[in-house]
Amino acid sequence: MAIQPQATMRGNVLMGVNPLGCKQEVYNQINYVKKNGSYQGPKKVLVLGASSSYGLATRISTAFGAGADTIGVSYEKGPKSERNLGTPGWYNNIAFKQAAEADGLIAKNIIGDAFTDELKQEVIDYIKEDFGGQVDLVVYSLATGRRTDPETGQVYTSAIKAIGQEVVGPDINLQKETFYQKTLAAASQEEIDETVKVMGGEDWLIWMKTLKEAGVLADGVKTVIYSYLGSDLNRAYYHDGTLGRAKADCDAKAGEINNLLADIDGQALVCVSTAVTTKASSVIPFFPVYCLALYKVMAEAGKHETPIMHKHRIYRDMIYGDQPLYDDEGRLRPDAWELDPDIQAKTTELVQQINEDNFNTDFTAYDLFMHEFYNLNGFDVAGYQEKNIEIDQLQALEP
Ligand code: NAD
Repeated sequence: MAIQPQATMRGNVLMGVNPLGCKQEVYNQINYVKKNGSYQGPKKVLVLGASSSYGLATRISTAFGAGADTIGVSYEKGPKSERNLGTPGWYNNIAFKQAAEADGLIAKNIIGDAFTDELKQEVIDYIKEDFGGQVDLVVYSLATGRRTDPETGQVYTSAIKAIGQEVVGPDINLQKETFYQKTLAAASQEEIDETVKVMGGEDWLIWMKTLKEAGVLADGVKTVIYSYLGSDLNRAYYHDGTLGRAKADCDAKAGEINNLLADIDGQALVCVSTAVTTKASSVIPFFPVYCLALYKVMAEAGKHETPIMHKHRIYRDMIYGDQPLYDDEGRLRPDAWELDPDIQAKTTELVQQINEDNFNTDFTAYDLFMHEFYNLNGFDVAGYQEKNIEIDQLQALEP
């Protein structure tokens, strides 16, 4: 029986998946890269967190923009039944692999928990046996709410909270399509520490140490992690909150990794990226309201970017191009477009005027935000042509 994919929302999480829509969305991103300039870049790339948003965009840019072979690590689930089709990232991985292999590139998908020693070893074995022995770019784009420490077995859970104060502000419930005042509690010290454990740089450092010890990092290797700093409009709940602490930990670990890689001329880079619509960002309290205003202003200025637009610009023009923009702490700052004073002034003005009557109208970028949100799970995808698909066909697809 043909499957009828349904988009169902639970709070700000989109539950359903359209497998063929995901495939079309991956192809759309590949076409974007093919039309928007190639570059001399990395040739052997490992992307940790490769199956959606920023990690997927990075993989697509380096493969189709620079001709790189790629290994993509992710934690995704395949189809179990007609009612449980698995996760979008599962289908993104498959679509990417099919397209990359059609272009003569190696595309290896490794599914599992990137925090474990076993998965790290599996990646190293693959690099040594089937991937030419070394990688020249390692991208860390994991986003998750839980991490099990491989040494102790302790499970850490991240909490998206403010620090030292409650924060009150407007938020949106995407399921109910309502605008309401939310109160975000202050985090306990334990919650702060656990968030740093999950979303900080510790596992990035472990990965780089492990890969170096195994001898699979090429001379001149680069490693990149994605951060967010934001502006005064979201400082209280992001930069000054638990996630901000985790991002500060990534900055500190970048320093350690730079020391670790000095003898092989390697470089660790924190890339402060722009706000985009992703599975992770839509559940950050208040953040969707900021996006509704920011996207409206950015779109009017011709500067609105999706993950593929942003990452392709970063790798083509900045990391492997001649237009990098660094801050005093050595971080790459492609978020300069978002933080441009004129953009922020207009966004501030707009945010202050958003209310329950206009948040989901043309007054904001609501339609654009929702379009991008549905795209994440293969719905509302440009160029998608409805075709019948059956569960057996989906279950036959290999990651
Ligand atoms: P995402 O949720 O779209 O993707 C996360 C990836 O991590 C997926 O591939 C998932 O399968 C993988 N993953 C999660 N847990 C895993 C595990 N245990 N083992 C292996 N893989 C696992 O995330 P995203 O929004 O693209 O975020 C990626 C990074 O970019 C994060 O560090 C985030 O803070 C940063 N960032 C995001 C934004 C934004 O606006 N979304 C802005 C700036 C920076």
